[in-house]
Amino acid sequence: MSENNDAALVLFSGGQDSTTCLAWALERWGRVETIGFGYGQRHLVEMEQRSVIRNRFQSFEPWSDRLGEDHLVDLASLGAISATSLTSDMAFALSESGMPNTFVPGRNIIFMTYAAAIAYRRGIKHIVTGVCETDFSGYPDCRDDTMKALQVALNLGMERRFVIHTPLMWIDKAATWKLARDIAGDWLVDLIRTDTHTCYLGDRSEQHDWGFGCGTCPACDLRRTGYDRFRADEIVN
Ligand code: ZN
Repeated sequence: MSENNDAALVLFSGGQDSTTCLAWALERWGRVETIGFGYGQRHLVEMEQRSVIRNRFQSFEPWSDRLGEDHLVDLASLGAISATSLTSDMAFALSESGMPNTFVPGRNIIFMTYAAAIAYRRGIKHIVTGVCETDFSGYPDCRDDTMKALQVALNLGMERRFVIHTPLMWIDKAATWKLARDIAGDWLVDLIRTDTHTCYLGDRSEQHDWGFGCGTCPACDLRRTGYDRFRADEIVN
């Protein structure tokens, strides 16, 4: 089976970035499937939010017949072999090398490889991921060069012509909120505020104007400051 040029597979975690990417993909392709990974993350609640968000997208009329299958991949072994604050009960900190200890080595490389294997089986040409090197935590596997190298490696290794799309690569968090509003207006901004999950600690006990979360972990911090700038820019313009 060759690849379908009108189909995409989105790496969908249930967070703000991947939800925006899923909406972005639904605007572009006639069939969009999703893939999610369990790897022992502390914020497992994001996996529950995935189906909430998918259901809401499916009942959004313009996208209802576009959103296809969801693929869940169990990568518990990845959590087991990496000692990070994302997968174990450890305080968030910078390591000696300056890398945040939330970094799970090889995570995006493994995710993309599994995504490509499923895209291969499903005959899908386009793979979409929300990685970003603009204002994120300095994860080396989120970089544009890493993704371009992976595209070459996967195409050589699987004898395919996959295209990896990274719509958030060069925009910051404020612009990610704005992108969501440009795609589907306040409906999507509100859905992201209410139903997506970003907090590393999995805290959904309190809803702030930027969404649910502990408000202090690095992920909440980034999301909150981005939201504040998005709203401030609106007032200026
Ligand atoms: Zn948090």
